[in-house]
Amino acid sequence: PRKPWVGGNWKCNGTKASIEALCETLNKAEFNPEQIDVVIAPVSLHIHMVKEKLKAGFKVCTQNVSKTGMGAYTGEIAVDHIKDFGLEWTLIGHSERRQYYGETDEVVADKVDICQKAGLCTAVCIGEMLDERKAGKTTDVVKKQIEAFIPKVTDWSKIMIAYEPVWAIGTGVVATPEQAQETHAAIRKILKEKVSAEVAESTRIAYGGSVSDSNCNTLIGLEDVDGFLVGGASLKPAFLDIIKSAL
Ligand code: 13P
Repeated sequence: PRKPWVGGNWKCNGTKASIEALCETLNKAEFNPEQIDVVIAPVSLHIHMVKEKLKAGFKVCTQNVSKTGMGAYTGEIAVDHIKDFGLEWTLIGHSERRQYYGETDEVVADKVDICQKAGLCTAVCIGEMLDERKAGKTTDVVKKQIEAFIPKVTDWSKIMIAYEPVWAIGTGVVATPEQAQETHAAIRKILKEKVSAEVAESTRIAYGGSVSDSNCNTLIGLEDVDGFLVGGASLKPAFLDIIKSAL
């Protein structure tokens, strides 16, 4: 059985005041961190505060990491900083980074590489665009995205895959249970063929894209859905219900 993984990606949102209130709300969540990973990814400037405000059990995560280490790289946050802060997780390759900040499969692979070398747990985001799904290319797209970073992975226990169909992100159009299960199963098959049966069986695959308190219970019941990466609803009390669905 794979340990459920539920992440709140706060994206570029929140003020000190709104985040303080949100942390108070989230602290009402009841879960055993031995049995579920609940991972919160605030704006980097807020991480220190969120770490102090959230109760033990929550894991705080960066939304991005530099492909380079510490040094003369203005504007970057290195794995070394993340580790020094005592954080265990980072997101990589979110579709918004791929779309707006030129993050290619090669860049994502470099980032996986540096995280693996640092022993940092990584949620690697993949997913197809609407025209790619319409053209029947979903499996090809996720396969290419996964194959790009596979050679960099030495410790699969530190990799979590977030399948986030781009057309479902922030749109309110959640993947149907059939679409989610079909693609999650396809991802597992790719891992089986390209890595090993063992890795395919043990690697967690979370779904992201318009997850809410009204669709989480159905989605979590799907065989190959091991959790969620949540955007909009992670800024609301609904996130408590989403955590609960995965317990
Ligand atoms: P929404 O839940 O707002 O659709 O965002 C999903 C997402 O991009 C999480 O990383």
